Amino acid sequence: MRTELVSEPGDPGRPNEDFASVGLPASGQGGSLVVLDGVTPPGDGGGCLHSVPWFTARLGGALTELTVSLPDVPLVELLSRALARTADGHAATCDLSHPRTPQATVVLARWSPASVDYLVLSDSALLVESPDGAVTPFLDDRLDRLPRSALASHTLVDTTLRNKEGGFFTAAADPSVASRAVTGSLPRDGVRALAALTDGAARWVERFHEGDWADCLALVREEGARSLVDRVRTLERADAGRVPARRGKTHDDATVVYAELSPR
Ligand SMILES: [Zn+2]
Repeated sequence: MRTELVSEPGDPGRPNEDFASVGLPASGQGGSLVVLDGVTPPGDGGGCLHSVPWFTARLGGALTELTVSLPDVPLVELLSRALARTADGHAATCDLSHPRTPQATVVLARWSPASVDYLVLSDSALLVESPDGAVTPFLDDRLDRLPRSALASHTLVDTTLRNKEGGFFTAAADPSVASRAVTGSLPRDGVRALAALTDGAARWVERFHEGDWADCLALVREEGARSLVDRVRTLERADAGRVPARRGKTHDDATVVYAELSPR
């Protein structure tokens, strides 16, 4: 099998708040990938003494370990355990009930000889290619379904809709959020390749409309994950001078993990 991983900060002067890993246990029978996109809540403080990279390193590290060490435990349960472990790491020093406690979007995939399990929480993407070349995106589109009036104000989104019923969910300190994720299991022989992207890389499709999800996966396969991130950066630089009113940052942390389970 072939795997590839690229993760690049949006601003070279700031820490990358994405986390990515591929786990290939020595059994050679399966593996896992983990992609997190740390959320930077507005304002500072937030009741936590730690940084978003501190949080994603612990949550991502726990998920990498648990997805390969407990291959028979459902991903929802593993996310719940990893969140509890991470919360334990700072419950004594920080107010984890604060709405701006560190949090992250989550993509998990785990493969065995029989199946491929997946979990997606909030706005990162998992693309699955079948042997006939069809590409299916697995997305948690709650954020897209929020009313435009709510999205006009980031502050409103963060204080009234984050991790609330009818809003959208990210992985913060409450282990029960795992049950909100989009999850499923596919037969292994129905999956040829996987690609997980944070929204900073998915912009190639979602913001710039350079192609669809199948085009995006084909680009990663043929030119490499680095090429997708480089193309996004070029589009962002061209866009920044042209459209001042775009929502969000010019550049965002961008992560791509590609896992080719069987050759074409
Ligand atoms: Zn903390």
